[in-house]
Order: sequence, then structure tokens, then C-alpha cells
Amino acid sequence: MLENLSKKYNEIFSDLKELNEYIYANPELGRKEFKACKVHKEILKKYGFKITDNYIGIETAYLAEYSSGKEGPKIAYLAEYDALPEIGHGCGHNILGTTSIGAGILLKEYIDKFGGTVYVYGTPAEETFGAKVDMAEAGCFDDIDVAMISHPTGKSHERSGTSQAMEALQFTFKGKTAHAAGDPYNGINALDGVIQFFNSVNALRQQTKNSARIHGIISKGGEAANIIPDLAVANFYVREATTKEMIKLSERVKNCAKGAALATGTTLEIENYEYTFKHLVTNETLSNLYVKNLNLQGIEDVPMSDSTGSSDCGDVSHHCPTIHSYFPISKCELTGHSIEFAKASISEDAYKGMKEAITALVMTGKDILENKEILKEIKEEFEKAKKELN
Ligand SMILES: [Zn+2]
Ligand SMILES: [Zn+2]
Repeated sequence: MLENLSKKYNEIFSDLKELNEYIYANPELGRKEFKACKVHKEILKKYGFKITDNYIGIETAYLAEYSSGKEGPKIAYLAEYDALPEIGHGCGHNILGTTSIGAGILLKEYIDKFGGTVYVYGTPAEETFGAKVDMAEAGCFDDIDVAMISHPTGKSHERSGTSQAMEALQFTFKGKTAHAAGDPYNGINALDGVIQFFNSVNALRQQTKNSARIHGIISKGGEAANIIPDLAVANFYVREATTKEMIKLSERVKNCAKGAALATGTTLEIENYEYTFKHLVTNETLSNLYVKNLNLQGIEDVPMSDSTGSSDCGDVSHHCPTIHSYFPISKCELTGHSIEFAKASISEDAYKGMKEAITALVMTGKDILENKEILKEIKEEFEKAKKELN
């Protein structure tokens, strides 16, 4: 089985490598991934997938589908391909998307043999306006049996853990300009609102849980030191371990801003400047299968991911059994969202990790197609976890 898969992998490797390197060399920001989306669709079409363009009305989203025509499980691999400003593919979504495509193509053989359908979801803008949120809300994952994704990381494979729930909040304080020396008493200082807000948030930190993360910047703070600013804006991310806790924490952060507005006589508007992500619920039965399939390749040490980041995969995991594992692209630890991370994503080490991840993703898919009992277990765990969410 492993040998056959390795042979099939080697046959498609040059296509995967070309895809990865092209996307690396052409980084595009979220929802503008036109080149990446085009080449993703081309390769999937070449290998016999039926493509839905413009999936749920998002220009750079797609759904690729390969069905045996026989009843059976619906298995989804999630592909990402957005880059970051200035540093390109510093999160390695070039190789992430390539890995999901490779898995989709190689699972086809087992779909033909056992029945069922394999999907590759082209999901734009993971870093900002994560399209998986729209897809989850639109019910795109509700009849999927399992969804899998493996993200590049530093030096070792990691099993799917959690990711934090996150809300992106923008606070706009408005006041009134005046000459800062001439008639300051006629002004209302919007920047004071923001500064007071930061101080209140810093006081709040002592009474938050270890899992809380509150981090912000002042994105507008006035035009000149001799003008009392009439506009000041702060952008924040509020994160917590679960969606419920995050909603509570966001409320407390918003209250800090309201208090600051009252204290400074400014007016306040609060809005979401990016999407809110739910926390990731790993399906452990599915995750155990994935780890077993790494073990079969001789990879014994698979620690739990301790990522404190957030991802729109969280939203997927509230709709169907999901894993979000990690595979190595380097021999050493790497800092995410860095230029060195981007460079590592096209290295020989990256291709070694990619092959291992694709193999585990495909074998996990095959296990599910082949063994009805295991899917039953996965679904029972999912239903139980879902009850605890509500
Ligand atoms: Zn990232
Ligand atoms: Zn990422």
C-alpha cells in the first residue's frame, strides 16, 4: 500500500512542485488570489476533478469534486493559497494548498475502488476574511463526513490541537479639533479616548485567563502635534480558547472602550474589520488515524500542536469532523509569518514533509472509505462535541 502510494506520488510530484513554486513566486493577498486559484483549478481539472468556479459567489474560491458514482463517504481536503503583505508566503499557504491537492488526486484511486466522493475546497483569505467562515455559514460542510488540512511548520509533524477563537475589533473614537496651544479647551481629544482605552485594557489583563490574548495597535492617532485630533482609531484582536469565552472577553474589551469614550467626551463606533473565527475542535478519532498513518511511515514522534493562533478552520470544525495537523518544512524551528518561513516552503525538506503529510492524508481517507465502523466512531465523537458547544 505504502509502496504503491509512493509510486503514484512520484508520478505527480513534478506537477505539485511546479504548482508550489509558481504560487510561491506569485504571492497574492486574500480574496485576490486569482493566479493561484487558476492554477489550482487547472491541475485538478487535469486529474479529472469537476470544478465549481466562483464557489458561493467568492471569485477566488472553488470546489473540486471527484466521485465514483457509488455511494460512500464524502471526504474533503481544504486548500489555502493566500499570502501576507510584504513577506509573501510567510505562512506557507503555497505548499499547504499543494499538499491538499496532492492528497485529493491520490485519493481518487481509492474512491474508484471503495465508492464515495473526494472534494478539494479552494478556500481564500485564511489570513483575513477567511472564506471558510462564509462556506461554513452557507452549509457547505454540513454533509461532509470529514475535513482535513495539514499546515506547514518548523521541524516536526504535529497532531491537530486547538486554535483560538478570535474577533477582530476596530474602535473609532471621534472628537473635535482645536489649536492644541491656542484654544485647547474648545477641543475634544479623540487620541485621549484611544489612550484611555489601552490603559483600561491593560488593567483588564490581570483578571483574564491564561488563554486570553488581547493585542492592538493605534492605526490613526492624529495629524500634527499642534492639532487636537478629532479622529483616532485602534484595531484589536481578542482571542480566547473557546468561542463562548471569546465572546465574553470581547464584551469586556468593548466596555473598556465605552468607558474611555465616556471619560474623554468622545463618541465611539465599534465594528469588525475582519472575520470572527471560531475555535478549532479537533476530532480525536480522525486525528488518531492521521497519526497512525504517520507512524506507519516510521514517524514516531508527533507532539500535539500548541499553536495559540487562530484559523478559519475553526468554523469548519463546528460543522463536520475536522483535523488541522502540521508537517515540517525544515530541520529547525521556524518563526511563522517570516521571510525565512516562506523560503523554507520550497526547500528539499519541505518536499519531504509534504510527501509524508500527503501520504498520511490519503491513507486516512482510505481508512474511512474502507472501514464503515471508524466513520461511525468519528461521527459519534463529533455529535457529542457539538452538544458541548451549545
Ligand atoms: Zn498565517
Ligand atoms: Zn497559515
